[in-house]
Amino acid sequence: MKPPPFEHHAPADLGEALDVLAEVGSHGKVLAGGQSLIPMLNMRLAAPAHLVDINRIESLAVIETRPEGVTVGALARHAQVERAGVPPLLRQALRLVAHPVIRNRGTVVGSLVHADPAAELPAVLAVLGGSVRLARRGGDGPEFTDVPASRFFVGPMESSIEPRELAVSAFFPALPERSGTAFLEVARRHGDYALAGVCAVVSLDEDLRVEAARVGCVGVGPVPVVVDVTQTRGDWGAAAAAVREAIDPETDIHASAGYRRHLTGVLAERALTDATREAAA
Ligand SMILES: Cc1cc2nc3c(=O)[nH]c(=O)nc-3n(C[C@H](O)[C@H](O)[C@H](O)COP(=O)(O)OP(=O)(O)OC[C@H]3O[C@@H](n4cnc5c(N)ncnc54)[C@H](O)[C@@H]3O)c2cc1C
Repeated sequence: MKPPPFEHHAPADLGEALDVLAEVGSHGKVLAGGQSLIPMLNMRLAAPAHLVDINRIESLAVIETRPEGVTVGALARHAQVERAGVPPLLRQALRLVAHPVIRNRGTVVGSLVHADPAAELPAVLAVLGGSVRLARRGGDGPEFTDVPASRFFVGPMESSIEPRELAVSAFFPALPERSGTAFLEVARRHGDYALAGVCAVVSLDEDLRVEAARVGCVGVGPVPVVVDVTQTRGDWGAAAAAVREAIDPETDIHASAGYRRHLTGVLAERALTDATREAAA
């Protein structure tokens, strides 16, 4: 199918993009890599009158790595970020996103705004306690707001971004020393969205005792589910039980809720074990 008619805007800089977004309001959609939006247009699941194509705004293609964490600009493609020396958890997750062709075009920030509960990157942002920077036209130039992941993802395919706003970057905080991470998932075919997935973050103290441990779950709730399992102090079987309790998976044509719950527990225990091994190495 072909998309419904729309007017294409190709702003050359951030200010121009925010001006167009302010003018078209709720009739506009941002076009980044188009890997989710174009199929949605073709299937007539979305019919915006205006597409605000940000692909010419080169300043949004930045990836900035600092000791505090990594900032990924709105035009940084999955493949670029994967190669950019970013923290291991981001790399581990990116390898599980779709296929290389899609990763060459799709953007990390686009994936976050799209807010698919089965997507890997929202869970990574949530488990790390990261944030998304939003921009909108203000009276005196662009106005910026940083929205923490805990408030950014509000429902399936729904983030807290408003029609006149552009997500300009995402910030993934660095982990303390002696931290390890892992991302495990099960999909029916390589490159498909996962039936369920888990990312784990474990930080150890100087005596290699567990100081902090968190799990982020994919595809088992309306938004990424983060479970703090620090209190289990390295008993990852007990942690897996806590994760099974915390999630609320649904049954669909691919898997039952019960299977997803069981699978998430198994993946949580394995991912926490792998992350602990990495933290101690
Ligand atoms: C066959 C296939 C398999 C896939 N498998 C996976 C998978 O396994 N895991 C996974 O996570 N994803 C998967 N995807 C989805 C895809 O990887 C991401 O959703 C996509 O890369 C999102 O980024 P994009 O730049 O292409 O966004 P677009 O398609 O351009 O936009 C997606 C949505 O976000 C909005 N948006 C994008 N950027 C901004 C911005 N800067 N500011 C405001 N709004 C914005 C758009 O308006 C739109 O609503 C798959 C896609 C396909 C086609």
